[in-house]
Amino acid sequence: MPATDPRVEAFLAAGQTKLLIGGNWVDAADGATFATLNPAADEPLMRCASAGAQDVDRAVAAAAAAAEGSWRKITPSERGKLLWRIADLIERDADALAQLEVLDMGKPLRLARDDDLPMAIDHFRYFAGWATKLEGETIPVSAGSYLNYTVREPLGVVGLIIPWNYPLMLAAWKLAPALACGNTCLLKPAEQTPLTAVWLGRLLAEAGLPPGVVNILTGFGETAGAAITGHPGVAGVAFTGSTAVGREIVRASAGNLKRTALELGGKSPNVVFADADIDAAVAGAAHAIFYNMGQDCAAGSRLFVQADVYDELVAGISAKAAALRLGPGLEEGVDQGPLVSREQLDRVTGYLHAGVADGAVAAVGGGRPADARLGRGYYVEPTVFAGATNTMTIAREEIFGPVVTVIPFRDADDAVLQSNATSYGLGAGVWTRDIKKAHRAAAALKAGSVWINCYNVYDAASPFGGYKESGFGREMGRHNLELYTQVKSVWVDLS
Ligand code: NAP
Ligand code: MG
Repeated sequence: MPATDPRVEAFLAAGQTKLLIGGNWVDAADGATFATLNPAADEPLMRCASAGAQDVDRAVAAAAAAAEGSWRKITPSERGKLLWRIADLIERDADALAQLEVLDMGKPLRLARDDDLPMAIDHFRYFAGWATKLEGETIPVSAGSYLNYTVREPLGVVGLIIPWNYPLMLAAWKLAPALACGNTCLLKPAEQTPLTAVWLGRLLAEAGLPPGVVNILTGFGETAGAAITGHPGVAGVAFTGSTAVGREIVRASAGNLKRTALELGGKSPNVVFADADIDAAVAGAAHAIFYNMGQDCAAGSRLFVQADVYDELVAGISAKAAALRLGPGLEEGVDQGPLVSREQLDRVTGYLHAGVADGAVAAVGGGRPADARLGRGYYVEPTVFAGATNTMTIAREEIFGPVVTVIPFRDADDAVLQSNATSYGLGAGVWTRDIKKAHRAAAALKAGSVWINCYNVYDAASPFGGYKESGFGREMGRHNLELYTQVKSVWVDLS
């Protein structure tokens, strides 16, 4: 295992992190703290302040003051420069942040370093450019002799609630557009993975962001998260996480009718036609489900394979699964780290039992690894369930682990019918050499993103979000600006 960055050692040596409220690092008002664990070792890493309702009140007051004060006075160009400076600072600390993410969350260092960090940096740079381009329009009205124009204004104070699968990257996905649009923010990271958000908080101050513009509230969903969502001073909440909590957020937002955007779970279909490049489809299907240990909202967890090539695909993806090297994320050459928490491990192993009980067969995996060296971590074997149908529990419910259910289909109509027979609609994949078939499937699949002969490709410039119970609102790209702005129509009598 490589020596950890001395900056990470120094960060951990502090023993406890605080809340960032109004530019100050403070303990929770009631002194509450919680431990965050290293999932590879089942050991505590640090203690963190646990924000309660009083802390949320103080953070909302600080964010509201900044929204009307210091932040409002900053020009769009200066806002853009601040975002760019934040990106530069994340880049400066990228190695340390990647290691800290691995220790707190479990993912292989390669993923944190080569994917999460670059995506986070790129996000700040992409939205830095938008700060100066939030234009209004003049409307040719027929109501009389009037000048009518529109202005795009920030919402005010927004709550950003994120999960544990891509902690720093999802913080960037929410903070960058919210700030570019001129909002002030309360960020609540997941209880399992608070540490990179705390580090980011320091960088925001170093970049010169005025106090109160971003407040960071580590803590629990039921306390800090619920207090943010129910707060009358919060104008909008952007949430990524489970569909169950998404429903809670909508309910809690009813009090002041705050705007909500939800990026929720999925049970995404990945469809392989017999005429596909089979090697590419096998590699793509493995990547679609095993990336990030399957802890991915768009994971291709239902692999639909045309009957003629079903056995070939099962054999191919099983070989890929068996070749994945499990181990602590900081170890060189590791492909699969532990799951994020014991809770998640129990949840995933529960589904492994459910698959067998429903009559599916684990072609590979199906349990916890035998390797004693991995005994303390929350590891689970990459698993391929064959002989499965679309109505089994493992094909209906989001597992959020490295478990793929392989289901046969007859023809394109059958593939689309089965793919769409779910309450979710986040991602979908199509593998074929037939361009017409590919586009017809893309049109028929009810999902926010469709990947043709690829999977899980993202770019800060391209919108991402769900159909159906996978949520609403779009992140990334210019569509994301709708979420964090509101339009004012101004009338001037010219008569
Ligand atoms: P979760 O409970 O939905 O957590 C997501 C975020 O919401 C966390 O910051 C959480 O805080 C917060 N939260 C929880 N209850 C809340 C409430 N009542 N009001 C406001 N915020 C609240 O997800 P989870 O329990 O960590 O994972 C459960 C399942 O969710 C997974 O197995 C997976 O199926 C799904 N999930 C989906 C995504 C995705 O990217 N769409 C990501 C993660 C999980 P705490 O961390 O303190 O609970
Ligand atoms: Mg939770």
